[in-house]
Amino acid sequence: MFDAVCADCGQTTQVPFQPSGDRPVYCRDCFQKHRSERGGGGGGPRGDRPMYDAVCATCGQPTQVPFRPTEGRPVYCREHYKRD
Ligand SMILES: [Zn+2]
Ligand SMILES: [Zn+2]
Repeated sequence: MFDAVCADCGQTTQVPFQPSGDRPVYCRDCFQKHRSERGGGGGGPRGDRPMYDAVCATCGQPTQVPFRPTEGRPVYCREHYKRD
């Protein structure tokens, strides 16, 4: 076990891996808290929608859209989608 300082409550804790410094380390209590905050208990609806690769019809940059691009229909990146 390695000594670490919880990034949330600041208490010393022990973790089963060497803290790398670029990731926050939490004590047992705070780890549970953060995990339940993020996932909401088994993956929320946010973030797991399938995204499709597409090319913006205005600027030609690759972008991702939440629907399958159809040929003949222009697809826009976020920036140009708003303007259209
Ligand atoms: Zn803590
Ligand atoms: Zn664009």
